[in-house]
Amino acid sequence: MFKLRDQLKKLFLSFTISFVAVSGLSLTGINSGFAQSSQKKVLPVVKNLRLGVHDAKTRIVMDLEGPISYKYFFLANPYRLVLDMLEVDFDLNPVLRKSTGGVLGYRFGLLKPGISRVVIDLSKPLLVDKHFIIKPGSKPQSRLVIDLVPTTRIQFLAYLKKSRNQKALELPKLNSLEQKHQRAQEFQKKSPQQKIRKSKRIVIDPGHGGVDPGAIGLQGSYEKKIVLMAAKSIEKILVKSGRYEVILTRKSDRFIPLRKRVAIARRAQADLFISLHADSIKNGAVRGATVYTLSENASDREAAQLAERENKSDLIAGIDLNAESQEVTDILIDLVQRETMNQSAVFAGAVVQEITKKIKTHRRPHKFAGFAVLKALDIPSILLEMGYLSNIEDETLLNTETFQKKLGLAILLGLDRYFFEGQSFKY
Ligand code: ZN
Repeated sequence: MFKLRDQLKKLFLSFTISFVAVSGLSLTGINSGFAQSSQKKVLPVVKNLRLGVHDAKTRIVMDLEGPISYKYFFLANPYRLVLDMLEVDFDLNPVLRKSTGGVLGYRFGLLKPGISRVVIDLSKPLLVDKHFIIKPGSKPQSRLVIDLVPTTRIQFLAYLKKSRNQKALELPKLNSLEQKHQRAQEFQKKSPQQKIRKSKRIVIDPGHGGVDPGAIGLQGSYEKKIVLMAAKSIEKILVKSGRYEVILTRKSDRFIPLRKRVAIARRAQADLFISLHADSIKNGAVRGATVYTLSENASDREAAQLAERENKSDLIAGIDLNAESQEVTDILIDLVQRETMNQSAVFAGAVVQEITKKIKTHRRPHKFAGFAVLKALDIPSILLEMGYLSNIEDETLLNTETFQKKLGLAILLGLDRYFFEGQSFKY
């Protein structure tokens, strides 16, 4: 397998145009387009995903501008086909117009620096019959074709088991600037000075990202984009006060598994963790911000459903939960967490007091539910739903700088109330 990885690496880095023999890899479906110069940062484009049904076969076709390298795998419960590629740009419709041939829908976006992902939801067990790239003749575009054929659940699961043992087939790790930057930051954090730091360290976690878009608003706003904008705006306000250091779990449109978000906060030895969201619910009349804290039992049905949806982020992004630890999916709360939970509730109270003065809040602004992302053992954590993308007024508001500034100031006041009760500052 190592040999193979080396071979792939060479392939990706070389300037040669080649189709290397990959016939032995059909099990996990690695294929490679022609390698490209790594000096130019012009990404290949994947566009026009379309579906066709021929007899029992379902054909997925995507147009490609530029060379791509891809691999695919399947996941069960629910059935999904996951297609990973060296980073590309997407020019695809955000939603599938009509489910066809067992394909219910798809999502796409950055999984991590250097790797893009398409997750295709399937209504039934399907496996790949053939997959290939039609090389461009005189036309500038090439085409990726994947033919799916129906199978039984038993055969599907057997395939999964077999292909899981082939995990060594990984796309080469890219040394992106972002990764280097992160590593440098982590290194700094490990320095001994951190014990005597005066400012408080806040981790702000913009929810979703990359292949997981989160909610999509009535006017087409993406939750993943809104929360990232808000996070950056809040960061600015907190840092300017001089009392807070801020670490964002993501700074770009990329996917971060829930478990990793928690890990970032723990590794940073954060004093507080704030996860930002802007969800969508059935009742379009409901609006306003809500602060959530972790609890085994949800405060109401709406909160329970919300937590259930948010906890599906990894599922949405096509992460193989069978191969992950159960840490995230199991949210039973242990004793160490109880004290943290009390602190989280105190912090939530402080934030609620301040945001109700500054922005529109839900009629019940503090709720509880079993959010996996709030499961950091020893860091007080809240999840802030800034508003609802299912409400047009909220959606419009969430996109404005004024709202984001007000929210940032409210959070600053909430943090000051929590950490520096009784002291007064200029705002
Ligand atoms: Zn969300």
